[in-house]
Amino acid sequence: MKCSNDSPRITAVAALRQPASNSLGSEESNRRKLKLLSDLILTDTKLRPIADKVIAGLRLSSQDGIELYRSPDLLAVGWLANYVREKKHGNVTYFNVNRHINPTNVCVAHCKLCAFGRDPNSPGAYSYALEEIYQRAEQGVREGATEFHIVGGLHPDLPFDYFLEMIRGLKQRCPGVHLKAFTMVEVHYFSRIAKISIEETLRRMKEAGVDSCPGGGAEIFHPRVRRVICDHKVSGQVWLNTAKKAHEIGLPSNATMLYGHVETEEERVDHLVKLREAQDQTHGFVAFIPLAFHPDNTPLSHIPKTTGYLDLRNIAVSRLMLDNFEHIKAYWIMLTPSIAQIALRFGANDLHSLSSGRSFENAARRPHHATRPRLAHSQRLICLHRNAHSRIPSPQQANSVSANFYNS
Ligand code: SF4
Repeated sequence: MKCSNDSPRITAVAALRQPASNSLGSEESNRRKLKLLSDLILTDTKLRPIADKVIAGLRLSSQDGIELYRSPDLLAVGWLANYVREKKHGNVTYFNVNRHINPTNVCVAHCKLCAFGRDPNSPGAYSYALEEIYQRAEQGVREGATEFHIVGGLHPDLPFDYFLEMIRGLKQRCPGVHLKAFTMVEVHYFSRIAKISIEETLRRMKEAGVDSCPGGGAEIFHPRVRRVICDHKVSGQVWLNTAKKAHEIGLPSNATMLYGHVETEEERVDHLVKLREAQDQTHGFVAFIPLAFHPDNTPLSHIPKTTGYLDLRNIAVSRLMLDNFEHIKAYWIMLTPSIAQIALRFGANDLHSLSSGRSFENAARRPHHATRPRLAHSQRLICLHRNAHSRIPSPQQANSVSANFYNS
């Protein structure tokens, strides 16, 4: 990805960045930019009408999304996504320091996509006592965490009150730490076991101290895909309705899409469009995180891992389709740091966080949910930003804009 000043792509990028001095100049300038786009960047002619819309700031259709997924010219798709990324965020890239807390891996759902969930008495099953969770959290704070990312399995016996007590205890012990807790799947499960409405469940979470919700469990909304990868999980529509209710009561959330298993391009686009429609209604989603599927240690282990090509494509198409999402995250833990670094030139403006501890992603990589902590050094992340050709790392901005919570 080394750039040189005489590259035609860079010439076009430079032209696009030039400000116009007046409206006439602006029109002329835009025409020149579009011609440069057509002539130099877009070898795939099907991308040209899409590029026109992107440059004009117009919404892309589902068919546009499919063309973006199918175009052979990945660099052009990435170039367009980078154009939008720079319009929204310039060169700034966000990250924070968080600590993953997974209170239990016992889960009744048995999703085929999952390497994390366990039956209650199976090897590797665990549920932490609250005191143990507090100790881990306080250790995270000593390591610099400003956010706890809290998700877990759907435990058949732990009551909703256990989770509310956990949140109260964390808020009391670590009052300055942002609590990003419970996916829409967990919220729905809590409402079932507590026999209360979704709204009441969310209200109690908020009263206990939850500041926002993570974006997991969305997978792919289409029912055909859910039947294969997560048959017992809530439907896509329930996930979306729950997220909208969270937003309505003042709990912002993130959103994800798990790609690289059995889904089609049409089903990915359908997922993105549904999220875009929900965002139009609530404006409560902060970041979108395309998650690469890791088949290891899952019942779907026969599925090949995603390629860098697919990973970058999903970052770029997400940026272009989700015109009402501020932040697109390159989740380096799933993508690898190297792909995530390049993703900063394909539309991503967030590089997740420094994190440590057990997590869902670790489970996919190491059988039986091994406990070896993974802690990225901040200098490593900052280096990734800087080496991505002038990208500027900005942990402070993440903190000030949204209490550093938009990291998956
Ligand atoms: S993905 Fe979540 S709900 Fe599904 S089995 Fe794993 S922990 Fe349970």
